[in-house]
Amino acid sequence: MPTTTKPDYYELLGVPRKASLKEIRQAYRRLARKYHPDLNPGDKAAEEKFKQIQEAYEVLSDPKKRKIYDEFGFYAEGHPGGPPPGAQAGPGEFHFDFGGFDFGGVGGASFRDLFSQFFRGFGTEPAPPHTGPQRGTDLEYEIEIGFWEAIRGTVKKVTITRLDVCPECRGAGASGIGQSCVACGGTGRSTQTARGLRFNLTCPRCGGTGRLQNLCRRCGGQGLVQRLETIDVRIPAGVQTGSRVRVPNYGNAGPGGGPPGDLYLITRVQPHPYFDRRGDDIYTVVPITVTEAALGAKVEVPTIDGRALLRIPPGTSSGQKFRLREKGVASARRPGVRGDQIVEVQVIVPRPVDERVRNLLRELERLAPENPRQDVFARASS
Ligand SMILES: [Zn+2]
Ligand SMILES: [Zn+2]
Repeated sequence: MPTTTKPDYYELLGVPRKASLKEIRQAYRRLARKYHPDLNPGDKAAEEKFKQIQEAYEVLSDPKKRKIYDEFGFYAEGHPGGPPPGAQAGPGEFHFDFGGFDFGGVGGASFRDLFSQFFRGFGTEPAPPHTGPQRGTDLEYEIEIGFWEAIRGTVKKVTITRLDVCPECRGAGASGIGQSCVACGGTGRSTQTARGLRFNLTCPRCGGTGRLQNLCRRCGGQGLVQRLETIDVRIPAGVQTGSRVRVPNYGNAGPGGGPPGDLYLITRVQPHPYFDRRGDDIYTVVPITVTEAALGAKVEVPTIDGRALLRIPPGTSSGQKFRLREKGVASARRPGVRGDQIVEVQVIVPRPVDERVRNLLRELERLAPENPRQDVFARASS
């Protein structure tokens, strides 16, 4: 290789001929960052420059090689005192921090690939559990509520299983100070070599702490334990089947000291043998007599508040429905709003057990002849 075409190593690195090893290192560090091929993808000039800088640094950072270079104006592999052909730059020259690079947009992925190989061999080791505080997850439990409890509100004892902060390690997941990290010898830094460069990285095994902590025996390092808890929960008046009652902070505890999630109780309301609840309305069926239906009447009907008077207009038929306003359930979702009670009347026809009753009914038919089926056939044939 003709040495005359080679640029001067000192000029390449931009350092004076009397530069100290430290100055040479600093210059190399700066230039390597600038011209690294993975940060300049496809840039042949940068790649060439990077090779030259590497070569210059390889020589000038080695006192023996530098002495030869200074004396003869060049240093070539195979030169007396030089390394065998193909030898890499020795380790121990050069350090920079992983975090010192800006990966934003410029060939970051491939540069990361270069680094990713450092982490092979640590693969079996779990990542340090410090991923930062996270909010705990929510919990959902279904509870059954009595009909009257749902209408009036109640306090229920609920037993739940939730993740709580481990009482042994207080959520840290580790116990004791722990031994020195075997991967980095307790320094928290891990030195790796690639392409003749030495990189000083945060130790992936201990996360830079330099210590391997003993996992908490109670929680296995999770920092959280399952706990059975019985709590009193206030159920507001007006809940329905499918209502969600939120109990703040009674979900699972948050990993890494994060806030807990919430507990949601999904209510299932038991049916009542008489009152048929549909949402905030109450449906009932009330029997009335033929004369009440025909002549009209005021009848007492049951409501969830007790008895109420329902006015039956004259000429009421069986199956007719009447609305008792605001006799339904006080809404849990809309404060101050109450549902209605819907009363369906059922006309009870007397059994003609007595000859006098039969005669009276025949007389009624004579006095007020009626054909309730007069339009039925017309409707049926349309
Ligand atoms: Zn623990
Ligand atoms: Zn370590």
